[in-house]
Amino acid sequence: MGHLYQSILDTVGNTPAVKINNIGPEKVNLYVKIESFNPMGSVKDRLALGVIEDAERSGVLKPGQTIVEATSGNTGIGLAMVCAQKGYPLVIVMAENFSIERRRMIRFLGAKVILTPSSDMGTGMIAKVNELVETHGWWQPSQFDNPANAEMHERTTAVEILDDFAEIGLDYWVTGFGTSGTLGGVSRALRQKSPDTKIMVCEPDNSQILGSGISQQRNPDGTYQTHPNFRPHLMQGWSPNFIPRFAEEAMEAKNIDELIPINGNFAIQCTMDLAQKEGIFVGTSSGATFAGALQVAETAPEGSNILCMLPDTGERYLSTPLFESIVEDMSDEEIEISRSTPGYRFDVSTVPVDEPEKPEVPGELDPAALAEVASILEQNQEQVLMFSLEWCEFCWSVRKMLAACDIPYVTVDLDSVAFQENDRGGKILAVLNQQNDWPTIPQIYVGGEFVGGATDLFDIGKAGELQPKLSARNIPYNESINRDPYSFLPAWLHPR
Ligand code: PMP
Repeated sequence: MGHLYQSILDTVGNTPAVKINNIGPEKVNLYVKIESFNPMGSVKDRLALGVIEDAERSGVLKPGQTIVEATSGNTGIGLAMVCAQKGYPLVIVMAENFSIERRRMIRFLGAKVILTPSSDMGTGMIAKVNELVETHGWWQPSQFDNPANAEMHERTTAVEILDDFAEIGLDYWVTGFGTSGTLGGVSRALRQKSPDTKIMVCEPDNSQILGSGISQQRNPDGTYQTHPNFRPHLMQGWSPNFIPRFAEEAMEAKNIDELIPINGNFAIQCTMDLAQKEGIFVGTSSGATFAGALQVAETAPEGSNILCMLPDTGERYLSTPLFESIVEDMSDEEIEISRSTPGYRFDVSTVPVDEPEKPEVPGELDPAALAEVASILEQNQEQVLMFSLEWCEFCWSVRKMLAACDIPYVTVDLDSVAFQENDRGGKILAVLNQQNDWPTIPQIYVGGEFVGGATDLFDIGKAGELQPKLSARNIPYNESINRDPYSFLPAWLHPR
């Protein structure tokens, strides 16, 4: 940090190891390595950069070639960042059950997202990628099998850990596993350069595939079969429905000292504790790994140094069980605080009752504005016309409704740059205020007839009176006209 970077890609890695002060036994030193400091907020930025640069070096990835990968999200987000920066088209294949934020982020970064049925599980996503590779000649990083995944962690994550603990020594390193790139790469380096560090690996208690001792079977084509001990679990990004090769290799090389089963509810509690007691805002698999680290801390000798991996940011889980207990509305306690002072509450109006009426001073209307309003009205007899403000929430909702219903419309944004010169927008508004005896914006016309503002249009729609008005003027619409128009308003604008 604190120097000039040549591109966003140079900011991948070098994440901080931070001491925990308010959770767990005091007799040990518990540190967390916060991977959300990576540019896209997860450990998978390392993998994304690692596999793509490896493929560029070896020549298997050609300039401009499309990249396709199966991912639960974070790899997709990391790949989308790297592909955006380097100019590769990207297609991500994702099971439908992963959080919506991930899909939308990947699309925001310019990539495509192909969904697969959740019943087909992780193996279904991979099979779909194989089909796409065969059909289109795209390149797949194969995050579960590509040695460059674990190598990137050996070269970066492990080196950072060894450097950070060079002076004080590291007694325990705690991780979970998804692709097992982190586990595979870091455990190899630790065994070599810090052989006394105990490697502790967490997995969901209801889905212990490593702990089962049952080895992983593959199909004749090399693809993984579903492990018999796999069960759906809470920790997105953790334990797929098979044992990936890097975890298999770590087991065979005896690079794992202990397996720790993690309870889902305790994982959620730990994720919230990290946020609320340490100000460390991370995702469910981070809380789950931290749950394992706390168990290690309980039995570790006094003065032990423990490092726990935190793979990603909590912002990726707003729509998941992690946030289930976090409500949008005020709790009883919050309502009590709101009611502890007189104004600005929902149960008492703040507007003074006896406000004197403002005297009406009918100003001179601008002749050019009068002519412009007449001409705009004249030209828009066969569609909906809205005098509006560019970014007003009500105007925005009306636009959304009209677009959803395929109703042809024109909006005249009176505050847009085009209407600012000589207060042209203000002069037009003065004409509208007087002609319609209507003080607010938007002002909406259906086929030349003034109907009022946004909620007036919505009320007409709700009452079923909009359809005959449109039909009478041959203005088309679709079946969305039957939807509750208020659903187009943001929730906080819904009338109470
Ligand atoms: N947690 C989350 C949220 C992840 O996305 C991943 C990666 N799938 C992991 C943990 C595990 O990391 P790795 O793939 O390196 O084992």
